[in-house]
Amino acid sequence: MTSSSPSGQGADYAATASEAYRAALRVIESVEPRVAEATRKELADQRGSLKLIASENYASPAVLLTMGTWFSDKYAEGTVGHRFYAACQNVDTVEALAAEHARELFGAPYAYAQPHSGIDANLVAYWAILATRVEAPGLAELGAKHVNDLSEGDWEKLRAKLGNQRLLGMSLDTGGHLTHGFRPNISGKMFHQRQYGTDPATGFIDYDAVAAAAREFKPLVLVAGYSAYPRRVNFAKMREIADEVGATLMVDMAHFAGLVAGKVFTGDEDPVPHAHITTTTTHKSLRGPRGGLVLATEEYAPAVDKGCPMVLGGPLSHVMAAKAVALAEARRPEFRAYAQAVADNAQALADGFIKRDGSLVTGGTDNHLVLLDVTSFGLTGRQAESALLDSGIVTNRNAVPADPNGAWYTSGIRFGSPALTTRGFGADDFDRVAELVVEVLSNTQPAAGPNGPSKAKYTLADGTAERVRAAAAELLDANPLYPGLTL
Ligand SMILES: *Cc1c(COP(=O)(O)O)cnc(C)c1O
Repeated sequence: MTSSSPSGQGADYAATASEAYRAALRVIESVEPRVAEATRKELADQRGSLKLIASENYASPAVLLTMGTWFSDKYAEGTVGHRFYAACQNVDTVEALAAEHARELFGAPYAYAQPHSGIDANLVAYWAILATRVEAPGLAELGAKHVNDLSEGDWEKLRAKLGNQRLLGMSLDTGGHLTHGFRPNISGKMFHQRQYGTDPATGFIDYDAVAAAAREFKPLVLVAGYSAYPRRVNFAKMREIADEVGATLMVDMAHFAGLVAGKVFTGDEDPVPHAHITTTTTHKSLRGPRGGLVLATEEYAPAVDKGCPMVLGGPLSHVMAAKAVALAEARRPEFRAYAQAVADNAQALADGFIKRDGSLVTGGTDNHLVLLDVTSFGLTGRQAESALLDSGIVTNRNAVPADPNGAWYTSGIRFGSPALTTRGFGADDFDRVAELVVEVLSNTQPAAGPNGPSKAKYTLADGTAERVRAAAAELLDANPLYPGLTL
């Protein structure tokens, strides 16, 4: 295995994992063979495609195996040592380990490992902010200790106040996330939202414009973080802006937590020392199980700790156990090498596009993702995404700033380096990936629609998909997924 492989272990590890999976599949097969079959096929499919989805990765066998245990069945509402159910001593152990590894890895005073996903982590954070900054002072003003002590009338007033707060977050078309106050998500129904964008000339965040928007709007919450912004963020500046207007700074590092964990983002680019609350997923660049995590300062910790029952039901104890394993992996030196390779590879991919005349949002990248504007190929994001998929390249279409094709068809394709870097791809391989992508897009034409070119239909020149698939297979074979794992 390469130094960036998830396990950091050798052949023994792969052989043992193979035995475990063979046995598990036999057990599953005895009950529902079609599930066993789909599970086998999923591994084969993952092994056989060039996965460039920026939000995906491949967790280690140790992380995956940890999820398939008897911790799944436990109810463990409450917190470590304070459960509403008996017999949670072993859940206490794994949750405490996950939190400890998270605190140590990120240098955070407090970590909460219960959120089931990134969206849940954000909800926990929002309600922790509202509880700390609106509910607690509201109760104090009324001389009450607990919400249950309030009269109907006072409770209604407090509820109205909780539902009438302001949030400033990054716009969707410049890379923000739906959970940052957008109407289709509950965050947009909870908060009055205003958004900041990027400088139209450069595509970079314009901190003066963020500060001006904050001064005018006076948000309770300033959200930084993104899903599709190919650059680093200066969180020290974001904190200055938050402090100036009395906002709580929440950073959603769902996408780039691996680069923080691996110390690629340090100083002003490390959100944890600057934010009041930092949220993340654990399954993207962090390469853990599907789940969420909240890091907080002492000030917000007591409210975050009440995520269950505020927002969450019983925690997924088997996933918390897997988070502990993944975070232990992320504390190893190999993970730093992995994170640096993720950033270097994204750079190689961006350079590969630039030298082949590709047009990139912001002109490049300095994180793990690249946003290619495909209008220069005469295509929409939707057409490009489909033509790439036909050729064995898995990506997703994504809006570009002020996208003329809207959020459905889009004008961009988002590429990420975390998954293929886990397979061991290096800079030369990513340059070859750029070459293959350009080959597909150069050989794709929009089909004619009733009123000009179609935004969805396309034709791919004969032989292109086959040629690119064969070239991709060479790269994939040279960098096997889960090397040594045989079913
Ligand atoms: C992926 C993502 C989320 C949501 O994570 P889920 O686990 O899918 O709920 C939240 N915020 C950002 C910035 C993300 O990129």
